[in-house]
Amino acid sequence: MKKIAFLLLLLPFLLSACAAPAPSECEIFAMDTLMSVKVWGDDALLSLVTSEINALDSALSAVDADSAIYALNENGSAVLDASLCDLLQQSVALSEATDGAFDPTVYPLVRLWGFPDGAYRVPDETELANAVVGTEHIHFSDSTVSLDKGCAIDLGAIGKGYAAVRCRELLAENGAQAALLSLGGNVQTLGSKPDGSDWVVGIADPQSPSSAIAKLTFQGSLALVTSGSYQRYFELDGVRYHHILDPATGRPAESGLSSVTILAEDAAVADAYSTALFVMGLEKGAAFWRQTGGFEAVFVATDGTIYATQGAAELLSGCKFEVIAP
Ligand code: AMP
Ligand code: MG
Repeated sequence: MKKIAFLLLLLPFLLSACAAPAPSECEIFAMDTLMSVKVWGDDALLSLVTSEINALDSALSAVDADSAIYALNENGSAVLDASLCDLLQQSVALSEATDGAFDPTVYPLVRLWGFPDGAYRVPDETELANAVVGTEHIHFSDSTVSLDKGCAIDLGAIGKGYAAVRCRELLAENGAQAALLSLGGNVQTLGSKPDGSDWVVGIADPQSPSSAIAKLTFQGSLALVTSGSYQRYFELDGVRYHHILDPATGRPAESGLSSVTILAEDAAVADAYSTALFVMGLEKGAAFWRQTGGFEAVFVATDGTIYATQGAAELLSGCKFEVIAP
C-alpha cells in the first residue's frame, strides 16, 4: 500500500519532468495579413522574429510611402541595400526560370485592376497592352537599381516567403529548438516538435477557406506556400476577378486551378513557384516540376479535383487525390 502511494506521488512528477516545453507564441499583422509565430526556445526569439518581419514589411511594401520599393517605383531608380538587391536579382532569375509566369514587374497591371488601393475596376485592352511589364525593364549597376519609364516592382508574390527564409535563418542562428511560422498562406517549420509528434499543416478549401480540404503530415524543416484565387478578389457585375495575374494577358490567370501549394526547402522559391504554377495551370506546372525538381506540389482544380506530385502524395491525407507521376 505504501509502495502504491509512493508511486502515485511520483507519477505527476515524472510526467511533468517528461513533458515537452510549451512554445512562446504571438500574432502580428504585417504584409497585409495576419501572421502567427510559435517558437520553442528562449522567449526573446519571438521579438527577434517580429522585428525582422516588421523591418521587411517596411522595406518591401509597394504601398508604404516609406519603403525602399515604393521609393524605387516613385523615382525610377534607387540604391538598395545588399539583401534587397539580392532578392530583386533572385526574383528576376525566378521569373526567367518560370518563363515569366512569376514576374516582379507585374505592378502596373496590379494597379490597373485597383488592387493596391481597393479602387477595383476592369481595365480595357489598350491599357493592358500598354502596361510596361517584363524583367528586361529592370537594370542593375552595383547596388543601384533602375527601372524603365512605366515599370514598377511588386514583391507581393515572394515577400512573405523571403520573410520566412530570413526568420528561419535568424531562429536557427540564435538557438531555437523548433518553430512554426504561419505568414498568411506561407507556413515554415523549423526542426521537429520537441514532443516528437508530426507537424500537420492544412490546405485551405478554396470553397470555404477557413476549413481544410486536406492535410500534410511530416517531420523537420519545410516551407509550404499556397497561392489561391480565393485569397484576394473583387466582384463586378457578377464576375469574380482575383489577384494572381497572368503577365502574358494582363488578366487574372484562368488556368483551371483554385490553388497551388508548393513544398520546398526554400520558402522564397516556394512562394515564387506557387504564384508561377497557379498561372501555368496543371499541365504546364507538372511539366515544370518534372524538369526543374527540388519541390513538390498540390494542385486544387476549379472542379475540386486534387492532384499531388509523387513526393507531396506521400505526405497528403484526408482527401481523395490523383498522383502526378515523375
Ligand atoms: P501570391 O499570393 O504569392 O501568389 O502573390 C500574389 C500577389 O503578387 C498579388 O497580390 C500581386 O501583388 C502579385 N502578383 C500577381 N500576379 C503575379 C505574377 N504573375 N507574378 C508576380 N507577382 C504577381
Ligand atoms: Mg507567391
